[in-house]
Formats: sequence, C-alpha cells, structure tokens
Amino acid sequence: MFVDKSLFFFTFGLIKMYAHSGKNGVHMHEMSVAQSIVQIVEEVLQEQNARKVLKVVVKVGELVAVVPESLQFCYRAITEGTELGNSELVIEPVPVRAQCLECGRDFSPEVPFLVCPHCRGGRVKLLQGQELQVSQLEVEE
Ligand SMILES: [Zn+2]
Repeated sequence: MFVDKSLFFFTFGLIKMYAHSGKNGVHMHEMSVAQSIVQIVEEVLQEQNARKVLKVVVKVGELVAVVPESLQFCYRAITEGTELGNSELVIEPVPVRAQCLECGRDFSPEVPFLVCPHCRGGRVKLLQGQELQVSQLEVEE
C-alpha cells in the first residue's frame, strides 16, 4: 500500500543538527520523530481498517537530522505491544536539494549554509530534505 502522509520538521531539524555535535544524544529528537511516524501510521490503519503492520517505510530528509539507529531504538520502544509491534521500520534518507532563486540552478547545499555554488546567491528555495514522510506500509488485513 502506498501512502503519502508527510510532516515537516524543518526548523527542528536544523536545531537538532547543532545539538548533535555534542555526543551522548538522549534520543529526544528521535523520540518525537518516532511518535510522529506512529501517529501517521495509526491514522492510515484507521482509514484502512487494517490490524497488524508488517513494514513501515519512511523517507526522512537530511534536515530532519535523525540518527537511524536511535530512531529504530525509539520506534521499538514506542511500538512494543501495539499493532505496530514487530513491524520493520525502513528508513530512506532524502538528501537536501535546493534551487537558487538568482540563477535558477539546482544544487546540494552544504547544510546549514544555503548558498548557491554557481553564483553565490543567497536566495534559495528548498526542494527536498525537510520531509518526514511515511511512503509505504505493509499491513495484514
Ligand atoms: Zn545561483
């Protein structure tokens, strides 16, 4: 089943990136991301009248800045004993892409510095990299 439910974590993602420069992250950010994923999945489950989730595929933008292992850990902790328990969480990273509003070209910015490498323009539009999207669900009807 393909779904298209997204949440945006842009600002949080950038803040997190700095927070992560210190070690021993306490999973706080990943916990809230995991909760959002579970929330999205539960909405879909209700819509679809499905019972058990086998697999959840999420697209996570680079700007959301999650540590995959940490997200897996939090997902396990939250879903244990629920209809999502034992489901597989697949994390697909989405690189940051931006478009320069001065010269119109696309580029992969050196986050967090969103400057066009072609013309040094600073007016850019983000095309991708801030998404948190549940893109696919495998359920048992
Ligand atoms: Zn440019």
